[in-house]
Amino acid sequence: MHVLVLGAGQLARMMSLAGAPLNVEISAFDVASENIVHPLTQTVIGQGLTSAIARADVITAEFEHIPHPILDECEQSGKFLPTTEAIKAGGDRRIEKALLDNAKVRNAKYYVINNRTDFDAAIQHVGLPMVLKSALGGYDGKGQWRLKDPAQVDTIWDEMAQCIDATPNQAIVAEEFVPFHREVSLVGARGKDGSVVVYPLAENVHTDGVLSLSTAIDETALQAQAKQMFTAVANSLDYVGVLALEFFDLDGELLVNEIAPRVHNSGHWTQQGAETCQFENHLRAVCGLPLGSTALIRPTAMLNILGEDTLPESVLAEAGCHVHWYGKEKRAGRKMGHINVCASTPDALMNKLHALSQQLDSDAFPALKR
Ligand code: ATP
Ligand code: MG
Ligand code: MG
Repeated sequence: MHVLVLGAGQLARMMSLAGAPLNVEISAFDVASENIVHPLTQTVIGQGLTSAIARADVITAEFEHIPHPILDECEQSGKFLPTTEAIKAGGDRRIEKALLDNAKVRNAKYYVINNRTDFDAAIQHVGLPMVLKSALGGYDGKGQWRLKDPAQVDTIWDEMAQCIDATPNQAIVAEEFVPFHREVSLVGARGKDGSVVVYPLAENVHTDGVLSLSTAIDETALQAQAKQMFTAVANSLDYVGVLALEFFDLDGELLVNEIAPRVHNSGHWTQQGAETCQFENHLRAVCGLPLGSTALIRPTAMLNILGEDTLPESVLAEAGCHVHWYGKEKRAGRKMGHINVCASTPDALMNKLHALSQQLDSDAFPALKR
């Protein structure tokens, strides 16, 4: 099987690594340059969407901010999975919110803002404090504002108006501020036959809007609630592939923050912590193969490596530590790789993370500072 991935970043790279044992070959399509590249070496192996589509058996995506004409051409080939509708929802918070409402899945109260009058209506409808997010193009907490005090309204409106004017079809989605006590996410897969498997929930720590630490957790009641919401969303889209749901945990009641119609950073721990990793399960799903077991094999956490391209060798020498570099050029705050940390018990895992915090530069691992 030959799978074409829209996007040529680390997620396509890790799909390629996971596909090799199953004889699933990956090529990646760089949406900006329209180059077809080898996902491990970034070597250019072809050019243009039409030729990329022609050589593929299946087409999928590693990110959601894809121009709609590209998605539409892929859709017409009949080869695209999970569904272009899901990718469009992941890339536009207006579509995403409507989808969650449709699937009757709890999410934060919201209001769509296109102009200043809407902003005033949003303040009435949603109330303060509120979180304001650009409808298009947001990731890693970029394109967001926090409105706490009515005195901030004019300043924030000036910035939001600039954002709306800068991009065609842009809008702002106002959301009630959710006083969550933690954030969790559920990664799972839906097969062509409608079967659904989910991994254990991950508890996530974000630092300045960027995921820094994900830890697989074992909480039966929360897991059941999350799986029900996952299944409702996946079924409503007739989804095929790996899907991630990010949640706010409000003392045991989950609200969906957002969806990611793809393999997800909070599922990287599955490479060492689950029977079948998320990358393999995504490929199994889109290739029409049976889904693999999502069982936890040992307590595992994932630490993102932010803005750093070297690590002390002691980390590689540490049992249970697995380093994954993405081969990307170093930039401040950029996701350069991750470390999966495994141990035999949850307590031993906490101890191992603590021991790592003594060896690692805290700028690259902000979650370990605490
Ligand atoms: P990602 O990289 O996960 O796609 P994003 O830019 O799409 O990020 P969100 O996940 O919507 O952004 O928001 C980033 C973070 O901001 C959340 O993980 C959460 O910590 C906080 N946040 C977002 N929305 C709210 C809200 N309504 N109430 C409280 N905190 C929020
Ligand atoms: Mg997002
Ligand atoms: Mg998010």
